Amino acid sequence: MRITTTAQVWLVISAMNAIGCAIVAPTVMVFYPRAEWPFELTLGLGLTCSIATPFTYLMTRQLQKNTLLSDKLQRLVDSDRLTDIRTRRYFFDRMQSASEDYGVCLMIDIDHFKTVNDTYGHLAGDRVIQDVASRIKATLRDADIIARFGGEEFVVFLSRVDPATGFSISERIRNTIAERPISFNDIPIDVSVSVGGSPMMVGSEIERVIQDADAALYRAKAKGRNCTIFSSDPFNDDQPLDYEGHRASRIVAIA
Ligand code: GH3
Ligand code: MG
Ligand code: MG
Repeated sequence: MRITTTAQVWLVISAMNAIGCAIVAPTVMVFYPRAEWPFELTLGLGLTCSIATPFTYLMTRQLQKNTLLSDKLQRLVDSDRLTDIRTRRYFFDRMQSASEDYGVCLMIDIDHFKTVNDTYGHLAGDRVIQDVASRIKATLRDADIIARFGGEEFVVFLSRVDPATGFSISERIRNTIAERPISFNDIPIDVSVSVGGSPMMVGSEIERVIQDADAALYRAKAKGRNCTIFSSDPFNDDQPLDYEGHRASRIVAIA
C-alpha cells in the first residue's frame, strides 16, 4: 500500500475504526439484551476505537516512511551521480512506457571535450559536464526528459513538440552553452555542443529514433561542430507525415 501523506494516514485510521465498529456493534446487539445496549455499545465501540486508533496510526506511519524511503531510493537509482539528471536506463524505461507520446529526441555531445580534460584536468571536465547538464535542464519544461547518455553525451526528449519547434529549442540549448564560458576555479572555459535531432512519432521505436539522432549528431560533428543537424528537414512540409493528434506537423526526409 502506498501511503505518502498525513491525510492518507488519517483516512486509513478512520476506515479501520469504521470497520471495527461495524463488526462490534452488531455483535453486541446479538449477544446482549436491548436494555444493556447503551452501556455495552458505548464500552465496545469505545474500546474498539481506543485500540484501533493507535495501532493503525503506528502501522500507517511506518508504511508512510517506507513509501517515502523507497521513492527516495528510486530517485537515487534513476539519477546520475555527477549531474543529478536522469540515467540512460531511466530514459529508455520511460520512453518505452510512453509509446503514445510524440516529440523530438536530441543527442547532445560536448565538442572537443578531451581537450578540456587534457588542458584543465579531469575535475574541470567534471564541472563542465555538470554545468552543461544544468544549462540544458534549465531550458526544458517539466514534461521533457534529460538524461546522461554516456561520458559527455546527453539525450533529451522534447515532449509533444513538432520538428520545427524542436529545432529552435535545440538551437536555444546550443546557444545557452556557447554564449557564456563555464568557470572552474575562476578559469573561464569556452565550451560548445553539437546536437543531432530526430522527430519521434507515435509508435516509433525509441532505439531507432536514437540511432537517427546519433547519425545526425555525427553529421553535425563532421560539419564543424557547435551546430544542430536534424535527421529530416524540420521546416519542409512537402511530404506530410501525420503526428497523432497533431496533424499540422509535417516533416520530410532529407536522405
Ligand atoms: P568530439 O568533439 O568529437 O566529441 O571530441 P571529444 O574530445 O569530445 O570526444 P572524445 O570521445 O574523443 O572524448 C571524450 C572524453 O570524455 C574521453 C573521456 O575520457 C572523457 N570523459 C568521459 N566521461 C567523463 C567524466 O565523467 N568526467 C570527465 N572529466 N571526463 C570524462
Ligand atoms: Mg562523445
Ligand atoms: Mg564530445
